[in-house]
Amino acid sequence: MQKKQKSGESSKKKNDAVKVRGLRDALPRDEEMWKVLWNAVHTISELHDYHFIDTPFLEPERFVAPAFLKITDGPSPLCSIKLPSGELAAFTPSPEIGIMRSYSDEHLGYFASPLKVFHSGRVIHYEEGKRELEESHVCGFDIVGESSDPIYDAQLILTALDFVKILKFKRVVLKVSTLGCKACRAAYREKAKTYYASRKSRLCPSCSEKLEAHGPLARFSCDEEGCKEMRAGSPTILDYMCHSCNNHFKTVLEILEENDVAYEPDPTLTRSFPFYNRTVFEIRAGERVLGSGGRYDYLSEMMFGKSIPGAGVSFLTDALFEEIRSEGISTSLGREKPKIFFIAVGEQARRGSLKIINDLRMHGVPVMESLGKKFLKAQLKVAEKSGAKAALILGQREVFEGTVIFRDLALGAQETFLSKSVVEEIKKRCK
Ligand SMILES: [Zn+2]
Ligand SMILES: [Zn+2]
Repeated sequence: MQKKQKSGESSKKKNDAVKVRGLRDALPRDEEMWKVLWNAVHTISELHDYHFIDTPFLEPERFVAPAFLKITDGPSPLCSIKLPSGELAAFTPSPEIGIMRSYSDEHLGYFASPLKVFHSGRVIHYEEGKRELEESHVCGFDIVGESSDPIYDAQLILTALDFVKILKFKRVVLKVSTLGCKACRAAYREKAKTYYASRKSRLCPSCSEKLEAHGPLARFSCDEEGCKEMRAGSPTILDYMCHSCNNHFKTVLEILEENDVAYEPDPTLTRSFPFYNRTVFEIRAGERVLGSGGRYDYLSEMMFGKSIPGAGVSFLTDALFEEIRSEGISTSLGREKPKIFFIAVGEQARRGSLKIINDLRMHGVPVMESLGKKFLKAQLKVAEKSGAKAALILGQREVFEGTVIFRDLALGAQETFLSKSVVEEIKKRCK
């Protein structure tokens, strides 16, 4: 085996350049989809007055650790790195951790009350079952600071709904519930425990194991008849709400109704992190969860002992892309410009071409080229594949004469014009 690797042939084996398991590349083939997504995020942010924030994918371990005190699906290991300085940093599994740290660190509350931000970036966590990192891209909106007034919960939900509207999704459903506070949760947990304890034998082995490990608030999603029935009959947190959480939830729903927002109450909604309280919601398309969010008033307290209210929603890019594909939504933004392919033949033409190309680009004409290829035939081949409508050809003779050839790639028709008027001529032809 080792001998083989020494030869030039086998060192060219296919899998030499592999990424860290579980991490992802965003690829050129999805470019149109990404542009649609960014466009929607930016449009909604501008219309709803949210501002840009981007926080690191690593944060001090002590800030990330609270996210792993899971109340639902049990401990998933914190993934931290010891820096050469001895400092411990951990991958952030959700964007609100960085946003909350930054809010306090950068005194963002001073500039806006509340702070309204949009995020778009990668989140990474360690998937214990697979024994590898798992990376996803999420984008979303957050309202941080000031108070936990229900108007903010409703505003956030409206922002999230407008976002999927801009993406042109047709089969969107809003599910809403509340998680209450620590007090309501404790009362509910006790009831749920008693409920499941007497019926545990009817759960499938996997759900039974989950119940054992994570308690009655775990997210049970299995499809076995017995388990489904048991879930349907189980007490819900709505029956054990304290007075103030009940009022908060009622007000959120009233505001939604008063503003003609259709919703479906769903007491089975839950969040994976322990810092969420009160309002929780999901935006679905059929069975597909596009985005989810809620109030996270406990986060800052768990991170650094300060009380800063917050609420946010995050959309999973993968789910949005799948929905775009399955609804057959066009990803063309409808404002692509006709592209020009520039061909330069001969050393002098190749070197001198950059000025003409840049002139065109800076006048708003997108130009493609393959200047590393020396021959006309090779460059034409790339041009034909490129999807460009026309080519500009600069050869030795044209350099000498101060001209350039314009060639319609579909018809093959050619004409010549002066290189100093190239921008004008192209703009005329590409209107
Ligand atoms: Zn409560
Ligand atoms: Zn089950």
